[in-house]
Amino acid sequence: MSRLTGRLLFAAAAVTAGLTGATPALAADEVNVYSYRQPALIDPLFAAFTKDTGIKVNVVPADKGLIERLRQEGANSPADLLLSVGIDQVVDAVDAGVTQPLKSAVLEKRIPANLRDPQGHWFALTLRGRIVYAGKTAPEANAVRTYEELADPKFKGKICTRPGSHPYQIGLLSAFIAHHGEARAEQWLRGLKANLAQKAGGNDRSQVKVVMESKCALSLGNTYYYGYMLAEHEQKAWAEAVNPIFPTLGGAGTHVNISGISLTKAAPHKADAVRLLEYMVSDEAQRLYAEKNNEYPVVQGVELSDILKKMGTFKPDAIDLARVASYRGAAVQLNNKVGYDE
Ligand code: FE
Repeated sequence: MSRLTGRLLFAAAAVTAGLTGATPALAADEVNVYSYRQPALIDPLFAAFTKDTGIKVNVVPADKGLIERLRQEGANSPADLLLSVGIDQVVDAVDAGVTQPLKSAVLEKRIPANLRDPQGHWFALTLRGRIVYAGKTAPEANAVRTYEELADPKFKGKICTRPGSHPYQIGLLSAFIAHHGEARAEQWLRGLKANLAQKAGGNDRSQVKVVMESKCALSLGNTYYYGYMLAEHEQKAWAEAVNPIFPTLGGAGTHVNISGISLTKAAPHKADAVRLLEYMVSDEAQRLYAEKNNEYPVVQGVELSDILKKMGTFKPDAIDLARVASYRGAAVQLNNKVGYDE
């Protein structure tokens, strides 16, 4: 992985060198992004930014290892920004000491306070809900209104989920602890496990497939998978067999996770990086970015994609995500204690 990303960065640097050779005045006008997001999801956005500003964006994509790489590169790192997926990755980067705090009136105005770090080490760019996919032929599943009721024995043998140790499930359990405390979270997780139709396994989309096959009445999954399934020939029927249901947690709203961004500690092109960051919360960028990923914009009032509009009304839990993240360790321990994945 690191050799591959190293080559990609080298290639990006070589391209930049070629460009700057022709236009020396623009030599410093570039931003280097380490990205846990796939290039196809962010390329249109960065292309629009470059067109507007003349600032080139070099992307080093990877599935893992970017935080470790930033740590090893230290002050010599060429990276300016880290794009991450999931509050766990976002917080891992801060804990690893590879980010720096940023004060930005633009970011503070555009991003709700509960969706960014109070010190400015990270900012959410998009939201994804973790929702119920209810089989169309299962009336009891379509009547779900809360996460809490998923532990009710009325759902015995009717629920399917991926392993509880997965970051998406840990995120939900962390939020449950933040709302209700650990003791009640333990009760809930035991109840949820007791209601599983089969051992927790697979991923969010494979659960929807088993709902289609009527092996369970409902599953838990992230919102963007609905759009992905509809767009894939084989999976379209899976999505069409379920209704997306948006439960609330603690009466507050639907559990959300984020994709986020941080300014790296080294950030050799800080001024340009901040420009890119601030561009990413513009209406245009939010729409482009969210739509490409089937995610919800973090900025209020930006238009949703057609699929998200069709899915139903989304009222995100407004709890402080930094607080939710602080329960991650407790959630992992609780998941082990309950033996959710056994
Ligand atoms: Fe995912």
